[in-house]
Amino acid sequence: NTSITIGATNACTPVIIGGPHADPVIMAGPCAVENREQLITTAQAVKRAGAHVLRGGAFKPRTSPYQFQGLGVEGLHLLAEAREITGLPVITEVMEPGMVETVAQHADVLQIGTRNAQNFPLLLAAGRNSKQLPVLLKRGLSSTLSEWLLAAEYILAAGNPNVILCERGIRSYDPQTRNVLDLTCVPLLQELTHLPIVVDPSHSTGRRELVPIMSRASIAAQAQGLIIEVHPDPDTALCDGKQSITPEQLTKIIRETSLIANMI
Ligand code: PEP
Ligand code: MN
Repeated sequence: NTSITIGATNACTPVIIGGPHADPVIMAGPCAVENREQLITTAQAVKRAGAHVLRGGAFKPRTSPYQFQGLGVEGLHLLAEAREITGLPVITEVMEPGMVETVAQHADVLQIGTRNAQNFPLLLAAGRNSKQLPVLLKRGLSSTLSEWLLAAEYILAAGNPNVILCERGIRSYDPQTRNVLDLTCVPLLQELTHLPIVVDPSHSTGRRELVPIMSRASIAAQAQGLIIEVHPDPDTALCDGKQSITPEQLTKIIRETSLIANMI
């Protein structure tokens, strides 16, 4: 079991994911960084709730070019400020190879999203990031486990051993949920790879009422962490409000999942 330290290079509280006895790592925050107040409020709230890492998208891979695309570099600066204020390391998405170094200057973990899961130049660039920041690689929209692991190999082969896998649901035919959460992949991957695996109950379900129970199920399946979308006022979120929970709900999830983790 590979263990990876998150937040080793910036002034923040580092956290270890993976390894034999590590506690589940909770990454939480808004889908998108919308403005300073929204981000700082959410960062402080997820910290109070017990999260270990702040998530927030500055570059958003939106389905429609007419939807909010993220604040870009300004969002990265706000994330760095939120880290300074809360001490939480920061994870944020990078969408293009030419932006890897810019994002790495501000982030503690580089996120590669589902839509870029087989963008091989991006995987290689993330693997070569000059700070050797960990990379969280989401499962492709319809990736098999082998395709996903071979995508991870691109990062590893480029010289970066710090890869975290993230199950975020796969595309299927039933519109009741946004995607289908494939929890079987957690124990299967633990047979196939030494890399830590986290589950994203937000993008996999697309429905906030399903997030608590699927979070509990993920930890029961021995996922090493969760990445959860949290917004102070989910109904007004600029992105993914339907699947975003409140900080109060996060508090309860963290309490419940840590009880489950201690039982197994
Ligand atoms: C995200 O986590 O912000 C995101 C866009 O997720 P995914 O790539 O899984 O859709
Ligand atoms: Mn989102």
